[in-house]
Amino acid sequence: MGTYSRYPLTLVRGRGCWVRDQQGRRYLDAVAGIAACTLGHSDRAMRRALKDQLQRLQHVSNLYQIPEQEQLARWLVDNSCADSAFFCNSGAEANEAAIKLARKHGHQRRGIERPIILTANASFHGRTLAAVSATNQPRYHKGFEPMVDGFKSFIYNDLSSFENLLRSLEVHGPRVSAVLIEPLQGEGGVNPGDPAFFHAIRHHCSEKGILLIFDEVQVGVGRSGFLWGYEQLGVAPDVMTLAKGLGGGHAIGAMLVQKEADLFEPGDHASTFGGNPFACRAGLTVVQELKRRDVLCNVRKRGEQLRRGLDSLIERFPNILWQARGWGLLQGVVIRDDCNLGAAAVVNAALNQRLLLVPAGAKVVRIVPPLVIRRREVTELLIRLERALQLIQV
Ligand SMILES: *Cc1c(COP(=O)(O)O)cnc(C)c1O
Repeated sequence: MGTYSRYPLTLVRGRGCWVRDQQGRRYLDAVAGIAACTLGHSDRAMRRALKDQLQRLQHVSNLYQIPEQEQLARWLVDNSCADSAFFCNSGAEANEAAIKLARKHGHQRRGIERPIILTANASFHGRTLAAVSATNQPRYHKGFEPMVDGFKSFIYNDLSSFENLLRSLEVHGPRVSAVLIEPLQGEGGVNPGDPAFFHAIRHHCSEKGILLIFDEVQVGVGRSGFLWGYEQLGVAPDVMTLAKGLGGGHAIGAMLVQKEADLFEPGDHASTFGGNPFACRAGLTVVQELKRRDVLCNVRKRGEQLRRGLDSLIERFPNILWQARGWGLLQGVVIRDDCNLGAAAVVNAALNQRLLLVPAGAKVVRIVPPLVIRRREVTELLIRLERALQLIQV
């Protein structure tokens, strides 16, 4: 179907941070399948592990014990604030699970008949009906109304907006079951969370017994320079959702919960493919390689290098660029409001320089390369972006 407006580009192979089109032209990939190909393309450890898994067993369903799923869950629990995991196949699905959990929490723990989940403006939580209802951006709702009931929004990083909303909803007793929020807003424009704001939200949630759910689908699994985005904020959630980077390019999603939030019982929720041996082997390989190769250290160093380069591009192109922002290897370049160019124009110009970038909203160019990107590749990325900007400036 005509669901996507695609670039006229057909990619047929890849290695590390580089992909090739049908004509054999090479592109530097700072999209990584939208922050998904954590270890780059065709990584050796991934190839080995997945080849082995393909030859052994791919799918059996959650009717049975699945050792690969248990191992991945164990790793995630051992390396985060969470105590247990539910596996699914995408970010939207992980958020659907969290939304159901939040409603159950509202009914069971706070005695609310019609629980409300608070979400932020400019958020992005996925495209399924409840996830898109949680996504507070009208352009994603248009044409698909009515939205799912039970979401109210506040302004991201604006504490008085959050407190006013919470107070107004709870004047006659409990009505809010959860807050669903991204530690850094990805699609909404690479907008990092403010630690003071998040600390305050955490305080309100703990005080009232409201679940704090972090959507870490984009920022989680090392992209921020920490394993989890919440570590950037110094605030631990009760629930977090993962997908994109977890599978290193393969379909997997997860909801991780602390034990106090572990409310699902047999029959409450399920997924046919969720947590299958192949997807979990992919996830396990990604997280083990992150540790083994000290990829977080690379993310921090290369993230700083990228940021310095972007800051100097902003100085050199003050008519086009306004600021760079983000964490680690999730960086956004914001185009000036009064510049008539949009992010799409910069992305197209970069494509001509054989650099792949992706917009995050109308005015932000997002840079999300594989987390294993090397120093000279970041240098090359900056050179290509500079050339692109030179050519659209005239
Ligand atoms: C991409 C994204 C989603 C949706 O993930 P899908 O796998 O496309 O369903 C949800 N939340 C955030 C923060 C995302 O970046």
